[in-house]
Parts: sequence; C-alpha cells; structure tokens
Amino acid sequence: MKKALICGISGQDGAYLAQLLLNKGYTVCGTSRDAQISSFNNLVRLGIRNEVKLESMALTDFRSVLQVLTKIQPDEIYNLAGQSSVGLSFEQPVETLESIATGTLNLLEAIRFLKARIKFYNASSSECFGDTGGIAADETTPFRPRSPYAVAKAAAFWEVANYREAYGLFACSGILFNHESPLRPERFVTQKIVTAACRIAQGSAEKLYLGNMCIQRDWGWAPEYVEAMYLMLQQEQPNDYVIATGESASLKDFVAAVFASVSLDWHDHVVSDASLLRPTDLEIGKGNPAKAKNQLGWEAKYKMKDVVQMMVKARLSD
Ligand code: NAP
Repeated sequence: MKKALICGISGQDGAYLAQLLLNKGYTVCGTSRDAQISSFNNLVRLGIRNEVKLESMALTDFRSVLQVLTKIQPDEIYNLAGQSSVGLSFEQPVETLESIATGTLNLLEAIRFLKARIKFYNASSSECFGDTGGIAADETTPFRPRSPYAVAKAAAFWEVANYREAYGLFACSGILFNHESPLRPERFVTQKIVTAACRIAQGSAEKLYLGNMCIQRDWGWAPEYVEAMYLMLQQEQPNDYVIATGESASLKDFVAAVFASVSLDWHDHVVSDASLLRPTDLEIGKGNPAKAKNQLGWEAKYKMKDVVQMMVKARLSD
C-alpha cells in the first residue's frame, strides 16, 4: 500500500487529491499549518475527514518539514501548500514568496537530506508565463511572471528542475491553469460570481462588483486536474507538464454563463469597480496541454460552461 503526504490538504486541490488517492488504495496523510485548529471543511464536505491522518507542518521551518517526513515516510509528496491568491500576493509579497519558494526548497532539501526515494509533485502555476500575447503556452514557453505570486511560483519551478537535474530527485512540476469547483473559497472570482448570482436569483438586491472583465482565462474542473498530478508521479521519468483545457474564455463570458444559468441577465446586476483592478494583470491566459495528452493520457473532459453548471448546481443545493 503506497503512502502519500499531501501538503496543504485543507485546500481545494488537497481535498480532491486525498479523495482520489484514497480511492486508489493509498494511505493518505496531510498537513496544515496548524492541524489542531484547522476545521478541514473541504475534507468534511467530501466525507473523508476521518480517513486521512493529519499533521501540523510549517513549510518555512526546515525542522518541522524534516520531522513530518521522518515520521510519515511517504512514497509520494504532493506540495499544494502556500499562499495561493494572486490578488493577496500584492498585499503579502514576502509571505507569498516564503511560503511558496522557501517552502518548496525545504521539502526538496529534506528529501535530499534523508536520501529518501520519495516522488515529489509541486504545484506550479500558469501565472508563471505572464502575458503570452494570446499564444497558447506549453512547457517550452519562457516565464515572465507579473505578480509576487507568479514570481514565487517561477522560483519554485526552477528549484524543482534544479534538484531533479543536480541530485536526481524524482521531482515534477504541474503548470496548472485555473481550475475551479464548489470547494473554491469566495476570495476567488469564480466562486464570488457564482455565490452572488445564486443569492440574487434567490431574491437578494445586491450588486456584484468586479474588476477587469476582459481578461481571458482557461478554466477547468479541479477534480480532474488532481488526476494529472497523480499521473505525473506514476511515469517512468520525472517531467513537467502544462495542465489546461486548451480553451480560454473572458471573465465576461464566465459571468454571462453563470447569470444565464440562473435565468438572469448579468447586465442588470454587475458593476465595474476600478478599485478591484490589480497593479499588473494578465490579459490572456491560454494553455496547450498536448504534452499531458500524449505522455500522461490526460485530457480535460469539462470546459468552462460545464464548470459553471456544476458550481451553480452545488451552490444552489447548499
Ligand atoms: P488553496 O485552496 O488555497 O489551498 C492551499 C493550502 O495551502 C491551504 O489549504 C492552506 O492550508 C495552505 N496555505 C495557505 N496560505 C498559506 C501560507 N501563507 N503559508 C503556508 N500555507 C498556506 O489552494 P488550491 O486551489 O487547492 O491550490 C493548490 C495549489 O495549487 C496552490 O499551491 C496553488 O497556488 C496552486 N495552483 C492552484 C490553481 C487553481 O486554479 N486552483 C492553479 C495553479 C496553481 P492550511 O491553512 O491548512 O495551512
């Protein structure tokens, strides 16, 4: 029976990955910064709270990382922890850099120090690419990060590549484009839109305030993105992969689809708010997942409109 350690198990991806690995017969352990006080709502929601072993771990503290790895002795580590909001990273750049870049480095160093044959997955991000001018980014596209979050993710990506090359670690980065689900917190714009539209449909007179609606993103379905993470660690050789649906849509299209699904016209309920614009933003996020399809056999089944339907349905049944 394989043992997996999921760092950041309380998050959206952590919960879905834990569910996937449990279904595959893994023993699943997960970390939170403070497992004693975390409510692990996402694990509760998926009905797996009592099926996973939980540990406290501070990624920025090497001793803490080493202690957990020594205790758990995992076969696979999935690093999904760290400050994960692009918007918040402009307010907390140091916390963002440390939790992502130092955190990843501590995990790599601990694996190297223990001389353990642990396979390592790192959650990289399409934000690393920056603006590609509408060209679909693949694994050869240069990074031009445009936020503290993206800078941190780019640093962590190169740490992983360096430890793979220099020390022969089985270490992979998944360069994932946006993926959504009912477990997304409202801090993220997709869930903010879904939640507001559902409240309005149920009688609320509120307005929904949004920043730049012209941005384009590739939105996928989180439960199938965690399958790609798992597949990367089952390959003969470690490698990096872009994970995306291959289709981009504007935020305006996303908003229109959400409001239409609750029989409303978004024009009546959405207000543009300049205070929500970011200091720098990406106009178009576009991904080319051909390598994942060819080498992992992974392909997104759900596109933006499916994601909207599933998020709205889940919100209305809450
Ligand atoms: P998430 O729901 O925010 O979960 C991330 C977890 O990291 C949290 O549950 C939290 O666990 C921990 N965390 C949060 N802030 C932290 C900090 N400052 N220091 C240390 N740990 C912190 O994120 P997700 O959507 O599941 O994404 C998983 C990973 O994939 C993240 O690294 C994210 O950046 C990356 N990613 C996500 C997407 C996406 O579209 N979802 C796309 C590309 C990459 P505790 O509070 O329990 O400690």
